[in-house]
Amino acid sequence: MSNPTSNPSRNLNGKVAIVTGSSKGIGAGIAERLARDGASVVVNYARSEKEAAAVVARITAAGGKAVAVQADISRAEQIQPLVDATLRHFGRLDILVNNAGIYQLDSLDTITADSIARHFDLNVRGLTLMTQAAARVLPAGGVIVNISSGVAKSPSAQAHIYCATKGAVDILTRTFGAELGPRNIRVVGIAPGFVATDGNADSSEAYAAYFVPKTPLGRVGQPADIAAAVSFAVSGDAAWVTGCTIDVAGGLVF
Ligand code: NAD
Repeated sequence: MSNPTSNPSRNLNGKVAIVTGSSKGIGAGIAERLARDGASVVVNYARSEKEAAAVVARITAAGGKAVAVQADISRAEQIQPLVDATLRHFGRLDILVNNAGIYQLDSLDTITADSIARHFDLNVRGLTLMTQAAARVLPAGGVIVNISSGVAKSPSAQAHIYCATKGAVDILTRTFGAELGPRNIRVVGIAPGFVATDGNADSSEAYAAYFVPKTPLGRVGQPADIAAAVSFAVSGDAAWVTGCTIDVAGGLVF
């Protein structure tokens, strides 16, 4: 099987990107890929300062540029300071990747007001306010990528609220794409299939046993698989792509 990390680099020299929630998992993979493509990257984290510093260290050791910036995306008042810090460090913003997201199993019986608020505060409100703050400074040619999930189109009764947030994300990808298109700012969704990350490490073997047989390409995803699609989405090769969500799932329908 080919190594997804062997994809050729794209040219993002001179571009500046924020990747929310990029201290680990898919976000870390995206941050490292965009840096390898030439972008200067803001590695955003909420609490995982050490892990974010390690991502920055890996990027700089490979000759890239990155800085770690703390901001809890579920807290409205911490969002503008993240954009301000980006402008202070790198002088501009070209790419926003809305990756930070939480996921919890639930059932109609176990949903609480708090679990609804926690999911929507980050996955939907945080993504929206980040997009608003970024859109105010993005130049023509800017790109916003929203990390969705295959569950937006094939939701599961084991995660009602998470699935609902990702359905909302896909709608926002369309509506933000429509509003920002006339400024030549593109908005692209990426919907991963099952990807082994820190977020699901506790049960990744059980998930893999369930999902791999349903995945035509016969393996779990890696952060690098998703990062390669983000690399395409933010590049000039995707100049005619906006307002839609691309499945990157090995053919898995959840
Ligand atoms: P993860 O839990 O491994 O990593 C999530 C990242 O977001 C971490 O760096 C975490 O520190 C950060 N984060 C959490 N709360 C935050 C907050 N309030 N503010 C800022 N950062 C915060 O998760 P992952 O599996 O890498 O998921 C990343 C994205 O991909 C999520 O949006 C998730 O819904 C989506 N996704 C994941 C999968 C999968 O199988 N792993 C599948 C489909 C979609």
